[in-house]
Amino acid sequence: MNTKLDPWSSSDITDYSKLFEEFGISPFENILPEIPSPHMYMRRKIIFGHRDYEQIAEAMRTGAPFSVMDGFMPSGKVHLGHKMVMDQIVWHQEMGASAFVGIADREAFSVRGFSWQKCREIGVEEYILSLIALGFKPDGLIYFQSGCGSVKDLAFELGAKVNFSELSAIYGFSGETSLSHMLSVATQAADILQPQLEEFGGPKPVVVPVGPDQDPHLRLTRGLAGKMNMFRVEEREDVKTGRKYLSVRGKTAQKEALQELKKRIPGKVKLYEEHIDVLGYPDLAGLEKLVREVAVEFGGYAFIPPASTYHRFMSGLQGGKMSSSIPESQIALTDSPKDGAKKIKRAKTGGCVTLEEQKKLGGKPEECSVFELMLFHLIASDEELLEIKQECISGTRMCGSCKQLAAEKMQEFLKDHQEKRELAREHLDEYRIIYKD
Ligand code: SF4
Repeated sequence: MNTKLDPWSSSDITDYSKLFEEFGISPFENILPEIPSPHMYMRRKIIFGHRDYEQIAEAMRTGAPFSVMDGFMPSGKVHLGHKMVMDQIVWHQEMGASAFVGIADREAFSVRGFSWQKCREIGVEEYILSLIALGFKPDGLIYFQSGCGSVKDLAFELGAKVNFSELSAIYGFSGETSLSHMLSVATQAADILQPQLEEFGGPKPVVVPVGPDQDPHLRLTRGLAGKMNMFRVEEREDVKTGRKYLSVRGKTAQKEALQELKKRIPGKVKLYEEHIDVLGYPDLAGLEKLVREVAVEFGGYAFIPPASTYHRFMSGLQGGKMSSSIPESQIALTDSPKDGAKKIKRAKTGGCVTLEEQKKLGGKPEECSVFELMLFHLIASDEELLEIKQECISGTRMCGSCKQLAAEKMQEFLKDHQEKRELAREHLDEYRIIYKD
């Protein structure tokens, strides 16, 4: 059976390795050595997959411009799952990325039926305050989709490149799907491509950190990027000689752009009515860069397909899935520190029924939601975490002490985070936030 990825229902993806084959997502560990001081989520394999992250790693190493982009649908309480995404945005910003955060109020309006006012309240109160409290810097851009002219215009243009059948194939849309739901999908593709618009410095690598359920948006956007571009570069083979060459294909209307390209490409180049064949110039990356420059000079689009990273989902504190409709299954960043600690005390562990058994057989940290909390959020030191894991497996550690430690750390984190949220509220006007007009 094929794995179903649906951004609007929380998918239960148990076998992440399937995603590598089915959707062409690459294992993250292969690229880890190329990343300068990788984030804790990367080191701990919480981020397990990526598409095209090579270009982001290279930009970090060389200091070339790149962006991080993500969006939050203002639909409910901000929780630890959102924190994971926010942590990654902040980290990429620290690593030199220009950051873009969209509050997907068009999506909440169309999918949840929320009013614009409610979207704004939830957007600020839940998501924006926590994002800033977690370290988002004021030079990043935060915007509500409904207030961002460039996103709305681009979404309309993107809409011309995709039809109902394609959306149905990616999202399973039916005849019942509303037009505004379809528009909200085009808006999200526009969110992802926006950092590459000329007003934000033009084409550049952009990374979107997501859970695997959001991959349909990435697949759609990557396809649309190619369709929007003035030129595409293809590797071709001469049928007679079998020799490989590069070909730049564009629209007939851009004859002048093709002529300009011909002038700039070194080596042997043949100009045809609608394309250029490049012989003896094997530098694909160099040619793509040149093609992008000329496309932008002639007023066209030259989007680089967005990169993405994929992180594991946390399980619910009671076992099973974490769900917003079951408050006990998750910890909201606005839960009182006392309530957060209480939820941990009641959480499911991977321990045995009796202490004797646990001393004899050891616990199972891989099935323990308390260990997961420490792994994802509470223990910064890899050595300390490893020690806890070993003690658990060998039966020298009991669940009570883990719960106590995790509860104390969670209490501290929530107290500190909520103080920072209040500080963020006072300084909100120092941030670049575009609200609905
Ligand atoms: Fe989980 Fe700690 Fe119990 Fe091991 S000892 S199962 S890590 S709570």
